[in-house]
Amino acid sequence: MAISEFGVIEKYFFRHPKNQEINSLGIGDDCALMQIPKGYELAVTTDTMVEGVHFFAGTNPRSLGHKLLAVNLSDLAAMGAKPTSVTLALTLPCIDESWLKEFSVGFFELAKQYSVDLIGGDTTSGKLTLTIQAMGIIPNKQAMQRSTANVGDVICVTGTLGDAGLGLKIEAGDYLTSSKKALSQFHTPMPRIKEGLAIRGVASACIDLSDGIASDLKHILQKSQVGATVDWHKLPLSIEVNEYINQTDDWSLPLVAGEDYELCFTIPPEKLSTLDIMYTQIGTIETELGLRVQRLGQTTALVVKGFEHFSE
Ligand code: ADP
Ligand code: MG
Repeated sequence: MAISEFGVIEKYFFRHPKNQEINSLGIGDDCALMQIPKGYELAVTTDTMVEGVHFFAGTNPRSLGHKLLAVNLSDLAAMGAKPTSVTLALTLPCIDESWLKEFSVGFFELAKQYSVDLIGGDTTSGKLTLTIQAMGIIPNKQAMQRSTANVGDVICVTGTLGDAGLGLKIEAGDYLTSSKKALSQFHTPMPRIKEGLAIRGVASACIDLSDGIASDLKHILQKSQVGATVDWHKLPLSIEVNEYINQTDDWSLPLVAGEDYELCFTIPPEKLSTLDIMYTQIGTIETELGLRVQRLGQTTALVVKGFEHFSE
């Protein structure tokens, strides 16, 4: 007999919360219950992935489970939050147990690494649509925001840029390489939680890179009412992305390709020496509004748009 909706939850998603101090009631009632420790704020974020929009039909469910959680945890990382709890809303075209098993394995492998409890959710039928609401805690008033970058700050990024974008090109059949790095960055990005916690209280502003740095850095610039110049030659690039640019001359990839889920932060230069994480300095915050890129001795204004779901 086919397994019921409740059977799905029981078999693949029910776990007692590990972190009972915060998640005092998990899956099984009308609501979960959380206790926010005194002196902390709750950071809350939601991200949805829709088949055919955010991922190709037939994508490996294990990597979907990982990526759905990773993109949500990445938002918490950008604010400097420590993740504690998530809810999961699944819209499924049918109950496919081997899909559910693999999806839950990918999800829980990553959840375990960050001690995140799954405390509730919803299960419905329809076009494959996956949503997580993620929650984390931050000591009062210490959250990093987009609106607080200052003129003179340096702009830094974690990791390398453009790998996920290259992975997407490989998956779409637009580029051929034997490299595995780009594909793993595209399918199973790791949220920069440790880095977010390490720069909290030191960085002046922070954002995670979901749409590409040209688009995401602009959010910091607009909210902070400042501008910036980025030195293209300082962008941290993997061997694979370098090779791709050498072959295609598509040097904009690391600026405009999305889904790297690295952190981009601004910081007063004198505080750089206190950072105990891997990062690359790529530019400076300036008074003149807008985003400029220096490349081969020329400075050009960047007018790239990020991905917008309802644009023509
Ligand atoms: P209700 O109808 O009262 O909203 P549900 O019957 O939808 O409750 O869900 C029963 C319990 O299972 C709730 O605690 C809910 O949070 C949890 N739940 C439902 N779907 C999921 C899911 N996909 N992942 C985790 N928990 C879920
Ligand atoms: Mg109810």
